[in-house]
Amino acid sequence: MTLGPGATLGLIGGGQLARMFALEARRMGFRTRVLDPDTHSPAAQVADTHVCAPLDDLAAAGELARACDVVTLEWENADVATLRQVAEWVPVHPDPGVLEIAQHRVREKDTVRRLGIPTAEYRAVGTVEDLRAALAEIGTPAVLKTARGGYDGRGQVVVRSVSEAEEAFRALTPATEMVLEAFVPFQMEVSVICARNARGQVATFPIAQNAHVDGILDVTVAPARIANPLERSAHEIGRALAEGLEVTGLLAVEMFVTCDGQLLVNELAPRPHNSGHYTWEACAASQFEQQLRAVCGLPLASTELLRPAAMANLLGDKFRADGSLPGTARALATPGVAMHLYGKRQPRPGRKMGHLTALAATADQAEERVRSARNQLGE
Ligand code: AMP
Repeated sequence: MTLGPGATLGLIGGGQLARMFALEARRMGFRTRVLDPDTHSPAAQVADTHVCAPLDDLAAAGELARACDVVTLEWENADVATLRQVAEWVPVHPDPGVLEIAQHRVREKDTVRRLGIPTAEYRAVGTVEDLRAALAEIGTPAVLKTARGGYDGRGQVVVRSVSEAEEAFRALTPATEMVLEAFVPFQMEVSVICARNARGQVATFPIAQNAHVDGILDVTVAPARIANPLERSAHEIGRALAEGLEVTGLLAVEMFVTCDGQLLVNELAPRPHNSGHYTWEACAASQFEQQLRAVCGLPLASTELLRPAAMANLLGDKFRADGSLPGTARALATPGVAMHLYGKRQPRPGRKMGHLTALAATADQAEERVRSARNQLGE
């Protein structure tokens, strides 16, 4: 199946990733229809049409699907049962089966290992007895995470002793499915955004280097400052996972670079990713254009990096309660800086409101620029 301009692309979820997808779709002459419960959601503001309902509302999903040629998504925690039903009416990319894997940290890691790709040591944990047995094998420090629903550092606790682990287990309850992972002393975190279309063509974007603060992505720099063999391996891991999972669409793969130079996969997301926002300005095509091409059965775009880049997230703390952003003129005076805001009305601490991207001659300079531009923002 190949879809061309004029086709209507359905989006489950109306956050910033769907908004940027809809903007790219509009540029390329496609129509978009978004399902989201919020009338002012970032994507509802720019999509052609909006179905205002919860993401697991089957009747609303039907209303979305009947008017669309394909359905894609921006959030891997979308309801799989609803998506399976939608897939009876219209193609859904990526396949709900891929989501089912990415929604559950144990299934995710089992799948990555099955494809021969290393992860940190981990054990599934359902009870305190499981936890004790897992700690005896893995040791401390370790990270206890809920198997489902965690994001931006939520639903996980670093534990340094058995008593801390038991306390964390109680804090994470009522979640009953958890995973205990060895704490990875990493030198760096990197990610690769891969795309695969239904014909099996695969493309990978340049490796991005990611710095998190309080579990939330803070700054991404591309290209990652890693040696060539490691960079090649990161691309190969991305490709192997996109092919192994038979993803149609995007697959973002987050990895640790360990202190002894090994790559360990941490997380998969079958959708555009915050660490790929830099592609909008820095690559021959953005990750959102690539998602569109992949789900429409079109040839994938070049992923060439045109210039080194850095991206800095803008969280709610930079904004006034009325949604305005003090210091904008000062930030935009920095050469090579672009600003993206997501149209969210209520700034809250930790809420992703927008991002800045800076281009420069080198990755170091791009990072310096984006950080200094961001420092201009806020009261
Ligand atoms: P996650 O939700 O799994 O992506 O984790 C969020 C962030 O927590 C990661 O990007 C890391 O910075 C940190 N983190 C998660 N798991 C581990 C681990 N096993 N070892 C060390 N740091 C971790």
